[in-house]
Amino acid sequence: MLCILSGGTGTPKLLTGISGEYGVIVNTGEDLWTSGVYVSPDLDTVVYTLAGLVDDSKWYGQKDDTYFCHEMMKSLGHTELLKIGDKDRGLKLFRTLLVKEGTPLSHVTEKVLAALHVDVPVFPMSDDRVTTQIYTDDEVLTFHEFWVSRRAQVTVTNVEYCGIETARPVEKALILMKESDAVLVGPSNPVTSIGPIIGMKGYRDILRKKVVVGISPMVGEAPFSGPTAVLMRGLGIETNCVGVAEMYQDFLDVLIIHKTDKEYKPELEDMGLTVYTEDILLDSLEKKRALWKVLEGIV
Ligand code: GDP
Repeated sequence: MLCILSGGTGTPKLLTGISGEYGVIVNTGEDLWTSGVYVSPDLDTVVYTLAGLVDDSKWYGQKDDTYFCHEMMKSLGHTELLKIGDKDRGLKLFRTLLVKEGTPLSHVTEKVLAALHVDVPVFPMSDDRVTTQIYTDDEVLTFHEFWVSRRAQVTVTNVEYCGIETARPVEKALILMKESDAVLVGPSNPVTSIGPIIGMKGYRDILRKKVVVGISPMVGEAPFSGPTAVLMRGLGIETNCVGVAEMYQDFLDVLIIHKTDKEYKPELEDMGLTVYTEDILLDSLEKKRALWKVLEGIV
């Protein structure tokens, strides 16, 4: 059994190409209440991916969705921070109703997985709220304000995971991690997607005892997509696979980097890591399957 740590884009891309026994622990640091619904963007993307429903042009929301509700609200003068599709909103409303009744997020997720016939275990990292806050020169932003409203055109000075000290890991997720043969830190943003998960003491203590394999989300000095470099730079971390390795240093054993990143290999090996150089651009099913084969050979 492999335990996979995931955000909402890079790792879900890999999930579409894998088979075998695995479970997923998903970041909830980007969760928010917006337009009256509880949105858990990374969780939804992972669940939609496994259910074959994800809009894989954006890695957000459901494919073939419509936007009648969004347009109606807009015509009434309500501007949504996130453009939520109708089917997607249906799922979010279902979750909102249960959460408001006091059902933990992980239980709601179990119900959703069963209804969508997904048999892969997927857990939010916590049933308690953790909110990633991004500090700039003059503002404190949530991830969506930073990425959707400001398009990451800000100077980041710090990132905090509010609530992380008291948030408890989901018990079944801890068991998954404990009982897994190895943990895969997927190719996700190390600051805003993996950071909140590994920032929780319960997970970190287990990670230190496991075989942990990472897949770099970087190619050269840039990410494959998104604002990862802006955030790493803001934290004073090198914006390349060495910087990623430094963030995971106290538990990482193996790092898979892009085939054009061979120049970083000696430095990574000096850090005590076993390094594989592979094609980690996940833009076709063949490449995802090939990377999965490499992973199976390692773990
Ligand atoms: P978010 O929750 O939407 O920010 O999603 P993630 O954190 O899961 O994904 C964003 C990260 O995935 C970025 O750092 C990207 O560089 C990385 N990423 C996106 N596509 C790929 C890919 O094809 N290969 C690899 N290795 N990383 C990718």
